[in-house]
Amino acid sequence: MSRRKGSKQLILEFFLSKIGKVVESREIQAASGGAVEWARRVRELRNEEGYQILSHKDRADLKPNQYLLETDRRLPAFKRNISKETRAWVLERNGYTCQMCGAAAGDIDPFVPNRTVRLTMGHIVDKSKGGDDSPNNLRAVCMSCNEGLANTGLPKPDRIHLLAQVRRATIDDQRALLDWLLKKFGSKNTVDNQ
Ligand SMILES: [Zn+2]
Repeated sequence: MSRRKGSKQLILEFFLSKIGKVVESREIQAASGGAVEWARRVRELRNEEGYQILSHKDRADLKPNQYLLETDRRLPAFKRNISKETRAWVLERNGYTCQMCGAAAGDIDPFVPNRTVRLTMGHIVDKSKGGDDSPNNLRAVCMSCNEGLANTGLPKPDRIHLLAQVRRATIDDQRALLDWLLKKFGSKNTVDNQ
């Protein structure tokens, strides 16, 4: 028991000393004092204690053996009950995109330029109004929207205005959009060689 507590505490201290830096699994294991179950301890810090330790499941730019603690702020307890499976399902359903402002995980945060977009679970019907933690009442929301930095959820753009915006954008931005669309819809073959 004391050994278990010890390795979790060591891992936490390691993450807190590396806030904002990508760390690899072997570093975490070394910091834990060589604990065999270091990955379980990381999950406990995340799911039970609310430390927002990100992995490749949260951020496409992280490799499977990489982790990142961006802040020492812990999620409030009510957000921790949502299972990993539910979270993954909701993120997948929402295309890893904030359902309020449209920012995608890993993008530069439109509201806080020096951080990247991190998605969290938002409730469609607020808990205070009787909403629950079921997948159908959850949606992907970025930290900025979650913190109320974006005051209003933008309405979804209609097609005419969206296309007009794209035509007005710079070539670089249009190319970035094309890259994103190709990534989202797959095969490059259909649009190559035009
Ligand atoms: Zn957002």
